[in-house]
Amino acid sequence: MERRKDRILLCLCHLSGNEQKFVNEAFDTNWVVPLGPNVNGFEKDLEEFVGQNKRVVALSAGTAAVHLALLNCGVGPGDEVLVQSFTFCASSHPITYLGATPVFIDSEKETWNMDPELLEKAIIDRKEKTGKYPKAIVPVALYGMPYKIDQIMAIANKYGIPVVEDAAEGFGSKFNGQVLGTFGKYGVLSFNGNKMITTSGGGALITENEDEWREIMMYATQYRESYPYYQHEKIGYNYRMSNICAGIGRGQMTILDEHIAHHKKVQKMYEELLKDVKGVTVHSQPETGEYDSNYWLCTMTINPDVKVKGQENAYKQIVTGAVGGAAGVIHAADSATTDCQPNDNVEAMRMGLDALNIESRPLWKPMHKQPVYKNAPAYVNGVSEDLFKIGMCLPAGPYVTEDDVHFICDAIKSLINE
Ligand SMILES: *Cc1c(COP(=O)(O)O)cnc(C)c1O
Repeated sequence: MERRKDRILLCLCHLSGNEQKFVNEAFDTNWVVPLGPNVNGFEKDLEEFVGQNKRVVALSAGTAAVHLALLNCGVGPGDEVLVQSFTFCASSHPITYLGATPVFIDSEKETWNMDPELLEKAIIDRKEKTGKYPKAIVPVALYGMPYKIDQIMAIANKYGIPVVEDAAEGFGSKFNGQVLGTFGKYGVLSFNGNKMITTSGGGALITENEDEWREIMMYATQYRESYPYYQHEKIGYNYRMSNICAGIGRGQMTILDEHIAHHKKVQKMYEELLKDVKGVTVHSQPETGEYDSNYWLCTMTINPDVKVKGQENAYKQIVTGAVGGAAGVIHAADSATTDCQPNDNVEAMRMGLDALNIESRPLWKPMHKQPVYKNAPAYVNGVSEDLFKIGMCLPAGPYVTEDDVHFICDAIKSLINE
């Protein structure tokens, strides 16, 4: 096959044309600060979208939303938090910011998200081992896929542990018709440049009520008490979203539904076009009627026995740049391989697609396999590690056309040796 001229990217945000108007308004009215009409307007838009009478605080990042949610669950030094292992590091890193310890929970095979059975086992075991219950439960909507929230909430309520839903990738995904992020005590959203919508960078925390909302707002703005001078009785953070970014967000909200519909259409096409490819499986939501994924990224798995062109050359070279760019700063890797990595045929598929100018990416490497978390307790069943070895993410963003999906699927087929 011939290499594409323009690179097909995983998920590049797409502007509606309405963003500029809100951003210009911010300049014209001199609201170039981390508060103002766009921030309030964006929060109102988000509240309307998620429903359930929730209140939303717009923040500078999704990571900040995880941090403040955990802080307000009372997480502190010496505590433990149960978190899905199969995720991006922003789900678990804030636990360590608070001096607490993440306890990683593996996934079930249907949704690839937190396994409720392992969750309960971990709760009982942590109580036995440490004498106290973990302070919070963090399930993650991986690539947009809803977690088994009915079962997770039942377990959380049984033991009285608050749930912080990490719906950063699952903005607009639903379970039983209800938007993710509105089931637990808190819901996390992200508007990073590659997520369902963007504010260039940003996030939001969905809160239960006015009191929670006020407390999170205090923490997000350096916890300033009501005096004519700066009076601080608690440690706060500088986490509020800027009025410029919120202007972009308001514009993005006008095309959110369109984006979600596009991602779902791309998913359907992958399912259809790859269904007869032996050893390749497109990951789809369970067909029980409860699940409604936004399919932020589409994913597939490749059986270990599938022969992919060039797999004998996989991992022969040391990679010189971090995935996702990392601002162009290069931290040279010590080796071309680690003790837990995608199979050679998966890496060969990634390289083969890359040569045709198609971006693809391994699945998130489970946190319990990350060197930085080698001492953290983990309750595992092998599911996330197995999936990490056989899975990959495929382009799904608003710029991916029907022609592109055909091209990508043809490329996948052409890279497999019959
Ligand atoms: C993107 C993401 C976040 C939040 O990240 P920010 O880049 O800080 O907005 C949190 N959790 C998961 C699983 C994510 O993918």
